[in-house]
Amino acid sequence: MEYDVVIVGGGITGTSLLYSLSRFTDIKNILLIEKYSDFAMLNSNARSNSQTLHFGDVETNYTVEKAIKTKKASEYILNYIRNSTEKDEKIIQKCQKMVLGVGDEEVKMLEETYQNIKSVFPGLKKIGKEELKKIEPNVINGRNPGEKILALLSDNGYMVNFGMLSSSFAKKARLNNKNIEIKFDTEVKKAKIENGLYKLETNKGNISSKFVVFAAGTYSLYFAKMFGYDQNLSILNIGGGFYYSKRFLNGKVYRVQHGHIPFAAIHADPDITNPDITRYGPTVTLSLTLERGHIKTFPDYIRTFNIDISTLISLKRILLDRDIRRIIQNNAVYSIPVIGKYQFLKKEAKIIIPKLSYGDLHINNNTGGIRPQIIDENKKFITMGEAKLQKEGLIFNITPSPGASSCLGNALEDVIYITKYLGKNFDINKFNKELGGG
Ligand SMILES: Cc1cc2nc3c(=O)[nH]c(=O)nc-3n(C[C@H](O)[C@H](O)[C@H](O)COP(=O)(O)OP(=O)(O)OC[C@H]3O[C@@H](n4cnc5c(N)ncnc54)[C@H](O)[C@@H]3O)c2cc1C
Repeated sequence: MEYDVVIVGGGITGTSLLYSLSRFTDIKNILLIEKYSDFAMLNSNARSNSQTLHFGDVETNYTVEKAIKTKKASEYILNYIRNSTEKDEKIIQKCQKMVLGVGDEEVKMLEETYQNIKSVFPGLKKIGKEELKKIEPNVINGRNPGEKILALLSDNGYMVNFGMLSSSFAKKARLNNKNIEIKFDTEVKKAKIENGLYKLETNKGNISSKFVVFAAGTYSLYFAKMFGYDQNLSILNIGGGFYYSKRFLNGKVYRVQHGHIPFAAIHADPDITNPDITRYGPTVTLSLTLERGHIKTFPDYIRTFNIDISTLISLKRILLDRDIRRIIQNNAVYSIPVIGKYQFLKKEAKIIIPKLSYGDLHINNNTGGIRPQIIDENKKFITMGEAKLQKEGLIFNITPSPGASSCLGNALEDVIYITKYLGKNFDINKFNKELGGG
């Protein structure tokens, strides 16, 4: 079995690339391998993530450049859905979205953010207590009248079931190109180069390909290291779960996050799979596994880690950072039974909904996933967003948030590299017309 391109991983990264290759290139011989029995069983599943289509307008930790890039990638998804015949409310729904600043420091940060990004997001609106009371009453009800608050209300709010979107990409890919093969329950165990071809050893036999893309989420760096690539990167895996209550909010309420922290502060969201609830999270716990709750993946995680002086210095710097230490300490308490829920309510949930009570809040242990935050040992710190390694016939995509929102932006970069490497054609005009909005 010899292919032009093999994609390892059937989450949103792998399936969006499969779709893009099938729609905009002349590469015919493509295989996608997924170790589970369906698409998007890990981080791209709706139960694992916050379901937000990120634009960078309510993410106060993004730089303006990151916001512009994320906005563009999210618009590709909106255009994909617009062009689609299956305009399914189960895949994507418009919803209200804002970022809330509470207290003097956060309000000041939000004012500054607004000044920096208002030209990129002309629809973003500053709103105070009176307007907030009308559109999101439970953010105001029961709040200390002396507390200073400010919100930025976005006109770009969407919740997405990225798992269903993955299946949609794969379905369309197969309609575009009948030669595409998809193998479920097939796990790549080892990968190497032999006589100019990449050889993948799987539990169902060996596969050869001219090009391999590892869209394997938390596992991608593990494979990069198998080829001896990026010894300068390690992953700090941040596990995250969710609490829930009956529905208290009309839309998404994000919180202000400091600029150097590469993950969102705990926020409240509706759930596209259940209109009756509000979810709170994700929590932030250091994880030593590549899949949430799967202790068997511990040895693989260790293999993604460089245990050398440079990593240890990076880790020390990360863990000594005042804001990161506070987040990790607080979140460690949230996992303790009873006390944890009480502390989560007091320090997180009630900041958004002051009237929320202990009995309203429930933990859902079956939710959440892992964000593979990248430790850049040159910078000696964790970096914001996704990382991509492109090496001679290989791509490794490592995808913390906003990896799901950026999937088609990532796919575009991959398609350009793959077609160039294989000497194939990429119809960029068609891509721009269909996904770029003209
Ligand atoms: C708590 C949390 C909240 C988040 N919220 C958001 C959000 O609101 N918006 C957003 O845009 N992003 C969010 N993200 C990030 C987003 O979920 C991820 O960036 C995205 O799902 C990554 O997709 P992926 O396809 O790269 O990885 P995954 O979805 O993890 O898929 C990787 C796939 O590779 C397969 N695989 C792995 N190893 C092998 C192997 N050896 N052989 C075969 N198959 C293999 C796995 O089974 C899996 O299906 C969040 C993440 C978390 C954890």
